[in-house]
Amino acid sequence: MTDYTMASKDFYKALNDSLLIGSKCKQCGAYTAPQRKICPKCQSDQTEIITFSGKGKLLAYTVISVPPVKMAEAGYDGKNPYCVGIIALDEGPRVSAQILNVDVGHPENIKIGTEMVMTTITRGDEDQKSTYLAFQPE
Ligand SMILES: [Zn+2]
Repeated sequence: MTDYTMASKDFYKALNDSLLIGSKCKQCGAYTAPQRKICPKCQSDQTEIITFSGKGKLLAYTVISVPPVKMAEAGYDGKNPYCVGIIALDEGPRVSAQILNVDVGHPENIKIGTEMVMTTITRGDEDQKSTYLAFQPE
């Protein structure tokens, strides 16, 4: 189905292709994101790479105004805060990611349960670009 492997770098390779990948256990059916060789639920090594729909619901979030160095370098600070949240993917697993296009100036307007869809953010200089997982309201 895909050319991605269980190597963790392939999770980011898939993000570069705007895909969110993970694994599905052939024994118990559990989904994992990112992908894992061994199922965390039943310890089976019979897992396969799958592509998630990229859809889910916002489960929890926080707005950060005192960012770590990397995010400060990306331009975030007290006047330009950003949101990080936990998304429950439609397939089950939970992932954390930056949440875009929400009212960070009024966090009370951000609602738990909001339908979200994945996107990506690219940061860094030309020779050191990295792609990160993000979500935004659908
Ligand atoms: Zn399993």
